[in-house]
Amino acid sequence: MTQHGEHLSFGMKASSVGRRGCVEIVCGSMFSGKTEELLRRMKRARLAKLKVMLFKPRVDDRYDEVKVVSHEGLNADAIPVASGEEILALARPDEIAVVGIDEVQFFDQAIVPVVESLANRGVRVICAGLDQDYRGLPFGPMPSLMCIAEFVTKLHAVCTQCGAPACRSQRLLATEGQLFVGGSAAYEARCRQCFVAGVIPS
Ligand SMILES: [Zn+2]
Repeated sequence: MTQHGEHLSFGMKASSVGRRGCVEIVCGSMFSGKTEELLRRMKRARLAKLKVMLFKPRVDDRYDEVKVVSHEGLNADAIPVASGEEILALARPDEIAVVGIDEVQFFDQAIVPVVESLANRGVRVICAGLDQDYRGLPFGPMPSLMCIAEFVTKLHAVCTQCGAPACRSQRLLATEGQLFVGGSAAYEARCRQCFVAGVIPS
């Protein structure tokens, strides 16, 4: 709490004149169109002649390769960063109006004060990420980000088993850890009823 409070007061003192920052979260399961929604918002800002920057976490190369394929190169122009501090160093609030962060669930909790600091200094921060991991549990910093956000959009995929709106990502391979191992081919979207937490379905 103290850490966040410090960031808050710092942000207010340095607030940009005439611009209001905010935090928007686009969350949901895999195949729910989170990245597409993030890119749609970024494109609209760009059309309004606002300066935008798009970031994504630097995970491993295998993951990056898979990701580019799975999104058909749509976010190939996202800047890979290892930490939230790198975003703070690159996105100067006096120049950049909109900051987009894709796959934000892979950052640690330190991304939260970074997002808050940018928003307090007048930046519109749009974060897209998985709200639940393959066990159906809250993913990394997502609960905190959703809590501090002005706007939260929860998207749904279509359940591959029954066709209902899907809110969970079913892992199909027996692997441990939250990392996106195996890429989107190792997952499918499922609803609450059809989801089997962290277990390979028979
Ligand atoms: Zn279902």
